[in-house]
Amino acid sequence: MIEFKHANKYFGDFQVLKDINLTINKGEVVVIIGPSGSGKSTLLRCINRLETISEGSLTVNGIEVNNKNTDVNKLRREIGMVFQHFYLYPHKTVLDNITLAPIKALGKSKEEAQKIAHAYLKKVGIPDKANSFPSQISGGQQQRVAIARGLAMHPEVMLFDEPTSALDPEMIGEVLDVMKSLAKEGMTMVVVTHEMGFAREVADRIIFIDKGQILEDADPAEFYKAPKEERAKLFLSRIL
Ligand code: ADP
Ligand code: MG
Repeated sequence: MIEFKHANKYFGDFQVLKDINLTINKGEVVVIIGPSGSGKSTLLRCINRLETISEGSLTVNGIEVNNKNTDVNKLRREIGMVFQHFYLYPHKTVLDNITLAPIKALGKSKEEAQKIAHAYLKKVGIPDKANSFPSQISGGQQQRVAIARGLAMHPEVMLFDEPTSALDPEMIGEVLDVMKSLAKEGMTMVVVTHEMGFAREVADRIIFIDKGQILEDADPAEFYKAPKEERAKLFLSRIL
């Protein structure tokens, strides 16, 4: 579904991604970990073309992401993204936040979009918050709204960039639970997170990235038990 081949990316003279070769299959849950500044967010952002790779190739569902003929809006409709900060519209209700894109980008009627939004609010466990404003709900609930908003577009794949790292500790579990249930339903997911419990329970693979390079692409159980790379060992010893 997602395939990087010999992908490099530079910000000016600085090479942020180095010879990335990575294939993610439909239904897989892939967790990306690595030190701050190692290129994790950039890697994710290349997938929906918030950033572009400088060299090599990247395809999503066989479509060349960086081909100038590729319809970026269409590509982004296939790819849901959830960020560390939720980026909900503060002056819109939860329901309006979720229905906005389905109405504007998919041409759904308001009624249909609302029906879908209610279904996903139920799925993320906050069916009663449809008419609340973001400031009236907790951080964990806001992040669940952001997930529902992504799902309402019926994406082929969901990207998560440290979705729990801005949350108070007591709210992390509720967001991870939603993500776990998505994973178990077969959603293709690429998740940047250091939450080991999540990775152990649902990830098919762990990708360890350091200084722009993929150093390990491993089974979670094996990775956490005994990472092969020295830098991965050091990294784990610091976060555990
Ligand atoms: P991570 O998510 O692993 O913390 P990032 O992908 O955000 O890492 O960043 C990787 C490196 O690229 C960092 O050194 C960061 O400062 C740099 N970087 C990220 N975005 C830009 C940008 N738009 N312009 C220049 N440098 C950037
Ligand atoms: Mg990041």
